[in-house]
Amino acid sequence: MLISLPKVRGIYRYNVPMSKMTWLNVGGQADVLFKPRDIEDLVCFIKNTELPINVIGATSNIIVRDSGIRGITVKLGKEFAYIKCKGNNSIIAGGAALLSNLAYFAEKQQISGLEFLVGIPGTVGGGIEMNAGAYGSDIASVVQSIKAVNLEDGNLYEFSSKEMGYVYRGHNLKGQWIFVEAEFKGVSSEHEIILSRLKEVIDKKNKSQPVKGKTAGCMFKNPKDYQAWKLIDESGCRGLNNGGAKISKKHCNFLLNYNNATASDLENLGNKVRDAVKDKFNVELEWEIRVLGGGFYSRIS
Ligand SMILES: Cc1cc2nc3c(=O)[nH]c(=O)nc-3n(C[C@H](O)[C@H](O)[C@H](O)COP(=O)(O)OP(=O)(O)OC[C@H]3O[C@@H](n4cnc5c(N)ncnc54)[C@H](O)[C@@H]3O)c2cc1C
Repeated sequence: MLISLPKVRGIYRYNVPMSKMTWLNVGGQADVLFKPRDIEDLVCFIKNTELPINVIGATSNIIVRDSGIRGITVKLGKEFAYIKCKGNNSIIAGGAALLSNLAYFAEKQQISGLEFLVGIPGTVGGGIEMNAGAYGSDIASVVQSIKAVNLEDGNLYEFSSKEMGYVYRGHNLKGQWIFVEAEFKGVSSEHEIILSRLKEVIDKKNKSQPVKGKTAGCMFKNPKDYQAWKLIDESGCRGLNNGGAKISKKHCNFLLNYNNATASDLENLGNKVRDAVKDKFNVELEWEIRVLGGGFYSRIS
């Protein structure tokens, strides 16, 4: 297929195998991967294309389907990975900055409150989209404002945390967005205290989750009044396989590519688990992992 693309200052790559890029190591090709040089380049690109656009971050919460991703896949690169101090316990970070780097940067500035981010292997942009969280904190509790480019009109907007309408693992902003920058705020503290919290988070994670596996974090959101892992466990799904996909024995809300799984092995196994929980408890589990591909604008949210 011949695609006509606008002239940009960033980089286009064609037929990019997503299996080499995603945490789960699965997924067909992205037709075009676009890494914009800066916000203006991204704005100009969106204003000059009619092609469907998806966005990926560190891909730690995504299954890309075996059929790949049609149209354009935007990935913010190193130009968006900056983290800087704003003063008054505030930090500005680009959409591609890693959440773990943000946590370590905050420690250096003696700013506390962002320690929970150290165990989440995503980017600022992905974290904002997912309202990523752990151990009682989430992005909503530390983010002040967000700069975002709208995928329909290509304009740059700024939102307060309140305007985002944050909910558990999501938000209520209408439309399709690329989050390009955010301001975070913590409270003043001391190195020793923050370092010991960082260590506590890392230790807890290592003990309870298969953090070294090919995974995408929690498969399903916790339904109201339930813990997803308990429902999955009590439905007999701990350690269940499908092709090369497996439910982790260590944390049964984690899906693993343990033996050359395909994306459909993983997605089908997740659906089997969801059906088993529905049969046993009459509770509908909702995917936390996002599925990309298999058509235009196929985001599951
Ligand atoms: C080992 C492991 C542990 C994890 N632990 C946790 C945890 O404790 N808590 C938790 O909440 N999550 C956890 N996760 C899941 C994941 O790390 C988070 O959801 C993270 O926020 C995803 O960020 P990402 O950059 O990888 O986004 P991706 O996985 O690339 O994308 C996720 C979603 O965000 C969208 N997106 C990505 N970047 C942008 C952007 N710039 N603008 C707009 N939308 C964007 C994508 O379109 C997609 O819908 C874990 C994952 C793994 C592999």
